Amino acid sequence: PALLSSQANPVAVFKLTNDFKEDPNPKKVNLGVGAYRTDKGHPWVLPVVKKVEKMIVDDNSLNHEYLPILGLPEFRSSASKIALGIDSAAIQENRVGAVQCLGGTGALKIGAEFLRRWYNGNDNTRTPVYVSAPTWENHNAVFANAGFEDLRPYKYWDAEKRGLDLSGFLGELESAPKHSIFVLHACAHNPTGTDPTHVEWMQVAEVMKRRKLFVFFDSAYQGFASGCLDKDAWAVRYFITQGFEMFCAQSFSKNFGLYNERVGNLTIVARDADNLKRVLSQMEKIVRVTWSNPPTQGARLVAVTLNTPELFLEWKDNVKTMADRVLLMRASLRAKLEALKTPGMWDHITQQIGMFSFTGLNPKQVEYLVKEKSVYLMSSGRINMCGLTTKNIDYVAESIHESVVN
Ligand code: PMP
Repeated sequence: PALLSSQANPVAVFKLTNDFKEDPNPKKVNLGVGAYRTDKGHPWVLPVVKKVEKMIVDDNSLNHEYLPILGLPEFRSSASKIALGIDSAAIQENRVGAVQCLGGTGALKIGAEFLRRWYNGNDNTRTPVYVSAPTWENHNAVFANAGFEDLRPYKYWDAEKRGLDLSGFLGELESAPKHSIFVLHACAHNPTGTDPTHVEWMQVAEVMKRRKLFVFFDSAYQGFASGCLDKDAWAVRYFITQGFEMFCAQSFSKNFGLYNERVGNLTIVARDADNLKRVLSQMEKIVRVTWSNPPTQGARLVAVTLNTPELFLEWKDNVKTMADRVLLMRASLRAKLEALKTPGMWDHITQQIGMFSFTGLNPKQVEYLVKEKSVYLMSSGRINMCGLTTKNIDYVAESIHESVVN
């Protein structure tokens, strides 16, 4: 028999980047893929990362032996610590553990595989998994691939008011079957850039606790939303104070600029130390058949940075540099659209946080921007704010204006 298969569709965000690369228009702008760019439009190796890379190369005590199946211990613990906070009671109670994973995606994958096998003592193919509408496009696929058959979108975004649909969201929580799994974006919701306020998070937690729903946080942008690690971890930490057991998938792709090193961590908050031990023993089995053991370089870079006080400070400063540039671009884009008197309201651009803005541009306007102006963005209207620079922002604002009035 031959190797038969049907042609799969390309992954939208990577296709967009390819189309961008092939476009000869000198004015082209890529607002698609979620990666940081400097004001010159270039990728940025964080200065602290460069420094630690040199330290690692010069350290003759290091080698390329296999890591343990669950990963580099000092990476796992320091990564969990920045999510939960250094004074986390759960850490002191020895009921927090972690699995080093291949990026945030890997952490979601390993978490999903565990939940399908072991959550609530069942094989959970039919436990509903709720993901926000809209969400990062990989969420559905990762959980479906882990064997979950009942994936459901939960109400999150109110397109008309361009903000959170809180009552819709709470309604979904109230009506979800007990023990359902909810994937929540820890901060800087992708793609809408819209997070619940503290009071709204409290309402979400109250319903989830009462209805015995499982929370799986996805934290891909800690530090990126506000420039402050603690602020961006507020929701995760609040849920822990409310007694939730949980998973938190952490990605270090954005906040360390380590996209291709695949650095992620699955933080597990269990009921007690004994339970945690059992969970980790099963995690080991899952990782063993998935990637056997994780790669070292990125995890080492992150661990050294987080565990060395002066490097940690330097990293926080680097993260703030990125967050501040995004804030500047938000203010600037909004001001330019308002100055052009582009029809519609543009205040959501500065209200949204994180890497993305959900512009509210419709598919026709997006098509105009891509085809006529070589301004590349996702068909949902999501733009990567980091793709904007002081040099291209006038062109982008004028192009958006044209797409709206045309
Ligand atoms: N979750 C969300 C919400 C994301 O936006 C991303 C990255 N785009 C990820 C997870 C995955 O991150 P990584 O590249 O580290 O796998």
